[in-house]
This record gives sequence, C-alpha cells and structure tokens, in this order.
Amino acid sequence: MPTTLRRCPVCAADQESGQARTLTVATDRLLVTWHLLHCPHYRADRVLMDRDG
Ligand SMILES: [Zn+2]
Repeated sequence: MPTTLRRCPVCAADQESGQARTLTVATDRLLVTWHLLHCPHYRADRVLMDRDG
C-alpha cells in the first residue's frame, strides 16, 4: 500500500522536526502525519486510536 506523508496543519511538523506520528488508513493508501508531542491535533488522534484499539 502506498504511503503518503501529510503535514499537520496545526503544528506544521514534518519528517525531520516531528516527534510523533499518526497513521490513517485511507481507501488506497496509508497517510502518515508527523506532529510535535504537544500538538493538540496529535493528542486528538491518539484519543481516537485508543478508542479503536
Ligand atoms: Zn500536529
């Protein structure tokens, strides 16, 4: 499955500055988003993943 890197619109972390990442499964690809640890968007994603898992 192809992997696409997305830049977080909240903390704007990228592959080099990011400290954590989240994976999202789309229909035909994996979306990888990097975040800083204090990013509220990252924390929200973690909550969603915890509920799923
Ligand atoms: Zn972020």
